[in-house]
Amino acid sequence: MAKKIVGTCALCDIEDVELELSHIIPKFVIRHLKRISIGKIRTIGEPNAVSQDSEKHYLLCGECEDRFNVSETLFAEKVFRPFQLGKFTSVEYSEWMNYFLTSVSWRSLIRDIDYFEEEGKIHPDDLNLLKTSADIMKEYLMGKSEDVGSIQNHLFFFEDLVSIPEEYKGLKLHMSVLGSQGSYTVHNHTAGTHATFTNMMGILLFTIYSFGDEEKWENTQINIDNGIISAGDQHVTSTLGMEIQFLAESFEKAKAKLNKKTKDNIATTIEKNKDKIPGSRMLKIMLKDLNLK
Ligand SMILES: [Zn+2]
Repeated sequence: MAKKIVGTCALCDIEDVELELSHIIPKFVIRHLKRISIGKIRTIGEPNAVSQDSEKHYLLCGECEDRFNVSETLFAEKVFRPFQLGKFTSVEYSEWMNYFLTSVSWRSLIRDIDYFEEEGKIHPDDLNLLKTSADIMKEYLMGKSEDVGSIQNHLFFFEDLVSIPEEYKGLKLHMSVLGSQGSYTVHNHTAGTHATFTNMMGILLFTIYSFGDEEKWENTQINIDNGIISAGDQHVTSTLGMEIQFLAESFEKAKAKLNKKTKDNIATTIEKNKDKIPGSRMLKIMLKDLNLK
């Protein structure tokens, strides 16, 4: 029998409640990533270890997990799946969109706040801003407030790149963005940019707590209630654009760190799955990088 973890729920604050193992990034993302991957999933930080699942923490009670389910299912059906099939153009949404995106970033943010505090390197003003933001999001997620103040959710759909700037050449952008998932919080004291960034296999979520100077976001913002969001014709000028480059660089570094045994295992898996490879989305993503001019 699985062990029971009892504690305080991070969302509703009920004490001595059984906590569930919550995914930081919704589980439909890792499920899909596993489905399309050749062989085992490897994590960027530890490329030689096989990870069977995405990051999970004992965070929420059963009731709060259920609270997040409705909007999560809607996002999976209306946005994530069509996008992965290459069929996403736009979606008309209501409150569920902002609720879902806020729930993803909040889970990531509260975990990051704990880490930043432990590490002790964060500027006190930045830590305060992040903590205040987490509290505002929590109130909204519990239904105690109707909006999230000045916090903004932006969605960016990573599309096929026809050409890339010189400095990005050599980085496997498609593979590292479309073929991966991850989430973390950025605090740039000098630029004044504070945000939580989540990559759901090419669907990029930026929850922005404060903007730096000269930021420009076009056709990416999600309304608190109703709206339409479309892929294509989205433009972003922001220090946060660096995060995509960072992802690609981490991916390259992880690959360089693979040891001989792991490389052999990958080679064996590819050999065994030869017949499946031509149709695999992972390979198509790899090809996209090779085809870049
Ligand atoms: Zn709860």
